[in-house]
Amino acid sequence: MRFREHFLAAAAIGLALYPQAPWRAVLTTLSGVALDTDHFLLYALRSGDWNPVGALRYDRWRHHPPQRGDTRPRYGSLRSVAHEPQITLPLAWLAALLWSPLRPVALGLTVHLALDLHLPHYDWRVRHRARGRCERCGIAGVPLEVHPLVHPRHGGRRWAAHNYALWCTACARVVHEARTAAHPSGIPSLECWLEETSLGSACGTAARSGLS
Ligand SMILES: [Zn+2]
Ligand SMILES: [Zn+2]
Repeated sequence: MRFREHFLAAAAIGLALYPQAPWRAVLTTLSGVALDTDHFLLYALRSGDWNPVGALRYDRWRHHPPQRGDTRPRYGSLRSVAHEPQITLPLAWLAALLWSPLRPVALGLTVHLALDLHLPHYDWRVRHRARGRCERCGIAGVPLEVHPLVHPRHGGRRWAAHNYALWCTACARVVHEARTAAHPSGIPSLECWLEETSLGSACGTAARSGLS
């Protein structure tokens, strides 16, 4: 989720809940956006570039599909444990229970993580595109699941429907086995990234073969 959405949502909820206490609304808003500083810190640590302008430029660039011949480095997923709701939320709300001035902070963090929540299994865009059929073998009437082509952990686009496919269990297993054989580390190279996201044959032709 982008900075602007985080800012607007946290500000709206802060103002709605604390109409009489502007500083609490401001604190909610600040906490709602401050969580994303972990992206900046991870970027700066991995790239050595501590310039926020460079970080913003990198962020804009990495949200576009990679072009062939573009050799700029990618730094993978830039999420730290602060973005794990099961860690951050209990800590934040426990602190807020013990010391009530922290409540707007806990609220801002909650709004942020709720916006970041992405449940690909319920991604209607992927399900609508697949029309109830496995996108690899075309079978219908069996349990189908949404799978990422490039996992967001490895830098795949978390919000882009084209980074997900609806597969039957058998196809998911075939793809998984082919991938594990091709990348024992589990992390696809940029070349595979290019192929997997361009709907051509995937690295090892496995992931996408048979896709119409
Ligand atoms: Zn975030
Ligand atoms: Zn299938």
